[in-house]
Amino acid sequence: MAEVTLDTISNLAKRRGFVFQSSEIYGGLRSAYDYGPLGAELLRNVKAEWWHTMVQIRPDVVGLDSAIIQARQVWQASGHEEVFTDPMVECRNCNSRHRLDKLEDPSQCPTCGVRGELTDPRNFNLMLRTHMGPVESEENLVYLRPETAQGIFINYESIRRTNRLKLPFGIAQIGKAFRNEITPGQFVFRTREFEQMEMEFFCRPEEADQWFEYWREHRFQWYVDLGIDPENLRLRAHENDELSHYSAGTADVEYRFPWGWDELEGLANRTDFDLRQHTEHAGEDLRYFDQESDERFFPYVIEPAAGATRAMFAFMIDAYTEEMVNDESRVVLKLDHRLAPYKVAVLPLSKKDELIQPAEKLAESLRRRWMVELDVTQSIGRRYRRQDEIGTPWCVTVDFDTLEDNAVTVRDRDTMDQDRVSIDGVEDYLAARLG
Ligand code: ATP
Repeated sequence: MAEVTLDTISNLAKRRGFVFQSSEIYGGLRSAYDYGPLGAELLRNVKAEWWHTMVQIRPDVVGLDSAIIQARQVWQASGHEEVFTDPMVECRNCNSRHRLDKLEDPSQCPTCGVRGELTDPRNFNLMLRTHMGPVESEENLVYLRPETAQGIFINYESIRRTNRLKLPFGIAQIGKAFRNEITPGQFVFRTREFEQMEMEFFCRPEEADQWFEYWREHRFQWYVDLGIDPENLRLRAHENDELSHYSAGTADVEYRFPWGWDELEGLANRTDFDLRQHTEHAGEDLRYFDQESDERFFPYVIEPAAGATRAMFAFMIDAYTEEMVNDESRVVLKLDHRLAPYKVAVLPLSKKDELIQPAEKLAESLRRRWMVELDVTQSIGRRYRRQDEIGTPWCVTVDFDTLEDNAVTVRDRDTMDQDRVSIDGVEDYLAARLG
């Protein structure tokens, strides 16, 4: 099987309308991407699956959608203003900038290859800044959130109170985050605007280790259940010198990206750091009152923090397959059907009205339930190839026999097996497979 490269996936993403560079008609920003019709669906499905697993089916987790712009004090209390930095070096020869901790050889510039010309590192703060209101003054400075987590901590007490929550419980959030990354790159892997899926799980301090273990396994399994080959996944515990300023323990779920193992999701034991900091800075007591023991204490927090855009990218890479069929190569995106942008394609064999009409009618009825594409262009072979490449699990073909037998051919993306199914039975046939 051909090796999947970064270019293979980014070209497919662009060619088929999954992902475009932001502001492309002006030359493009490398910092942000736009998700086209297929990418928007895929990303929505990734987020929906996360929400389903992390919120909907759990009695102990609730959701939140907090603002991107928060008071500056939030980021002072959380420590981000002071220490959310990466060590940056610049090359005196070619002026390129790099993250020191990501360099293979800290004495050599990866852009021009010259040795000994990198400056001493300086700490570069990753938060994007803007001003609220018409005056660009220091008092009006705000940050675009670099993580969704703080929105959860500052709403913790209101959520706990209004929802009458008892430990242990979690608060989950999906949303945009912004980081002024020194070196964005590897397509959507590292961008300056991205989307996160984070959950803060509040528990008793003495149970934190146990919950940390639980969530590590749980999050690893989520990727496996949605189709990622476990051979391409691993859990890696952070060394002490890698730990974030708030963490007593961190493990990453890593994926084997085309350039090697890299982070997909970070799981951290944030201890009581954030609730303590906000109690101190905001002057509001965020301790938990335990009625049974009549005690007040700060809960500990276990945080699984995933990237939605990065996860979507990993799902695409893992699903990408090239195979030989009758001496012809076929590209298939073997996405789990829950993630596939379109669940069904309806393809009339010819452009004749007598086939288009029943095809349109069928597409219209299936559309109420699933994302359906009706495709009438090009030869049937090319249309199958397009659907394979965008990961559509089922193609339904309306042919001339349909006019006689009121049945259609349903083709399975992965096996290419075809079933003849009566038009009236198509919805049930698909429902049995799609749920
Ligand atoms: P790194 O060390 O690679 O910069 P991090 O450890 O700071 O990342 P976290 O703070 O743990 O990242 O963020 C949680 C998750 O958010 C990451 O696992 C990743 O999936 C996602 N994420 C973080 N930064 C970016 C980014 N710049 N672009 C896309 N996704 C990101």
